[in-house]
Amino acid sequence: MTIDQGIAVRGFSSIDVPDASIVASCVHCGLCLNECPTYRVLRVEMDSPRGRIQLVNAVQEERLSLDSPAFLKHTFQCLDCRGCETACPSGVKYGALIEAVRGQAVQADLMPTRRRIAQQVLRTVFRRLKLLRLAAQALKLYQRSGLQTVVRRLGVLQRIAPPLAKVEALSPRVSNRFLQASDLSFFPADGEVRHHVSFITGCIMGVAFADAHRASLRVLAQNGCEVRIPEQQGCCGALHVHGGDREAARELARRNVEAFEIHEDDAIIINSAGCGSTLKEYGELLADDPEYAARAEAFSVRVKDFSEYLHEIGMRTPTGAIAERVVYQDACHLVHAQGISRQPRDLLRMVPGTELVEMENPTICCGAAGLYSVTDTEISLAILEERLDALQATGATVVVSANPGCLLHIQTGAQRRGMDLQVMHVAEFLDAAYGHEGSKA
Ligand code: SF4
Ligand code: SF4
Repeated sequence: MTIDQGIAVRGFSSIDVPDASIVASCVHCGLCLNECPTYRVLRVEMDSPRGRIQLVNAVQEERLSLDSPAFLKHTFQCLDCRGCETACPSGVKYGALIEAVRGQAVQADLMPTRRRIAQQVLRTVFRRLKLLRLAAQALKLYQRSGLQTVVRRLGVLQRIAPPLAKVEALSPRVSNRFLQASDLSFFPADGEVRHHVSFITGCIMGVAFADAHRASLRVLAQNGCEVRIPEQQGCCGALHVHGGDREAARELARRNVEAFEIHEDDAIIINSAGCGSTLKEYGELLADDPEYAARAEAFSVRVKDFSEYLHEIGMRTPTGAIAERVVYQDACHLVHAQGISRQPRDLLRMVPGTELVEMENPTICCGAAGLYSVTDTEISLAILEERLDALQATGATVVVSANPGCLLHIQTGAQRRGMDLQVMHVAEFLDAAYGHEGSKA
């Protein structure tokens, strides 16, 4: 590998330092390469897990500068999808490594410009849910008033602010009715109460995927769950962790730990894969915080993905038939970070009339990866094309997933291709199967 010699060799600082034992555990076998979406489209060794680990090793050994353009480019071009972790026979904890590396870049203020802007948005808007709600209301007005149609037709943004045009094109359609923690505190079980759970409404999900939230609550209720939604909760910090802003993520984690200590429910349910993986890693995120370390561990143990929990309690077989050919798209942070792939498929198979089919390479990332589709749009779209080819080849009419970013990315791509494909959250599909019985949300 050619090593770019930076002007000032700067190794890693002592806070959140990338774990040298993770680097050492890589035996350079290359078995992860074909599972890496960036390597698959770019065919560059430094855009593979093995290549990136070598770059980290070079900085650790001070053969390469932390501020080297090559180091920053290739480590930030990683999706943090963790597909390499599943593929790796040596158990290399790649996700923890790349997140620590990004933490180093943030500490040293070395992030690429687009990432820096994204970080500022995350720090201001996503940490205050009221502000996020206001921004979502403004976006809803823009989308529903017809202004969006006019702006797009005339290409106004492309002419005056191309980067903003890109963000606008990728922005989700805001929900008609929001469902944040301030909107609802309790959702009763349908019939006998068999389980007590808490529910995380998160940030984007509550304003752009509120229908998936309502569907989740109804399905939980159908399965005897009484649901509490603590008002003090906030954004989980997943996007902050993935971008390297670990301090902001810790602040959010502490807030959520406190919010969910109020009720001693059986489980804390999350219906977003990316958030779920971070919530389950709060223990690691706050490991050095004497006041919160044990509390964060206790919190993480209680977190369950929506499908994981329903599978665990034995979901009631839905009565409503859905005669569709359905394909399940694995969200990276569900399959690779949480090891959950069988549970959602088992639940979907329980729906009468549904034919569940598989696409080629179902566990390869779709290219959404949090803010990646905004910060690294070209690579993200190239990765998506492969996924859309695989989806199209199945002949499925419905694609089901469990992560807002994947849903949005696939929907946008499918529309652009003119595919006749319905995109649904797993909760929405199950809710439809239950025929919306006893709907109260
Ligand atoms: S996390 Fe994903 S994109 Fe990054 S190296 Fe691993 S497989 Fe490749
Ligand atoms: S599969 Fe694991 S050990 Fe092999 S090159 Fe990839 S990260 Fe290293």
